[in-house]
Amino acid sequence: MNATYRAVEVSKPGEFSEVRKPLRDPGPNQVRIRIEACGVCHSDSATVEGLFPINWPRVPGHEAVGRIDALGPGVQGWAVAQRVGVGFLGGSCGYCEFCRNGDLVNCRNQEFTGVHSDGGYAEVMIAKSTGLVSIPDDLSSADAAPLLCAGLTTFNALRNAPAKAGDLVAVLGIGGLGHLAVQYARHMGFEVAAIARGNKAAELAKKLGAHHYIDSAATDPAAALQALGGARVIVVTASGGKTIAETFKGLRPGGVSIDLGVGPEPIEVTSMDLIFGERKVAGSLTGTPATGDATLRFSALSGVSAMIETVPLEQAAAAYAKMMAGKARFRIVLVMKNANN
Ligand SMILES: [Zn+2]
Ligand SMILES: [Zn+2]
Repeated sequence: MNATYRAVEVSKPGEFSEVRKPLRDPGPNQVRIRIEACGVCHSDSATVEGLFPINWPRVPGHEAVGRIDALGPGVQGWAVAQRVGVGFLGGSCGYCEFCRNGDLVNCRNQEFTGVHSDGGYAEVMIAKSTGLVSIPDDLSSADAAPLLCAGLTTFNALRNAPAKAGDLVAVLGIGGLGHLAVQYARHMGFEVAAIARGNKAAELAKKLGAHHYIDSAATDPAAALQALGGARVIVVTASGGKTIAETFKGLRPGGVSIDLGVGPEPIEVTSMDLIFGERKVAGSLTGTPATGDATLRFSALSGVSAMIETVPLEQAAAAYAKMMAGKARFRIVLVMKNANN
């Protein structure tokens, strides 16, 4: 391996540059990964636009897949040449109160990949071993990449939701997250209703496994869900408090609306609708690395896959702009040279 590697970093908000960075050895409990593919995710904007406090320059990317090429001191359970993935959560500490209670997602010392440390828009990255996900042999690196964030987020939310086989589950929004959520919901054995504005996504939603399609521009989506008996769970992949509020009454008593789309808009639901029917609004943050393993295995076993477009690493800036313009159908994946995709 060369003593340097190529990376696309952000030097200040909105400014990408292709650079060569010196190769360094992984520190204690870290591994070094030769990256083969990295998905471009909407949350990369938190880095690129500087929404989090960032120590510039920073390499974005939190859907990285590659092979371990060096182990730092103290790493156990992982091996050189093993194919691994790194998602948004950079790895739990193991000693904080939340870790000690088994709640790894809410670890107090969790770093975010591509925010606090350099991410996957590069040929090489250093990652904490506690954040690694293992990649099944029958998924290509490019196919696996989007499953580490978009896949894990939707799979985890559905897997922990209080729905049983046969229950009505609604997926709001058919985009990067929604097109995966519909597939997972179908393969988990739910009755699936997809909700989006307009009729453009209707055919695709059915192809992905939705039993019902609700055009929220033409009908009241809450009433449409109630006509189907009311949803046990609504997975909201579109951001915006209004979208959540307008479907909330479509929940059956005891149902929950799980918000996955980050946005500044408040969610306005009445206490009446919460109390009479004991409905809930909840948030869900990606998932643990073990759930990441399960996401990838389940995807390989059931044939769930993200619709992707691959582009070379050098086109990261253009890929990011296309994703931000809402023109990706549905996930863009950067692929590195010599990668086995
Ligand atoms: Zn912790
Ligand atoms: Zn993401």
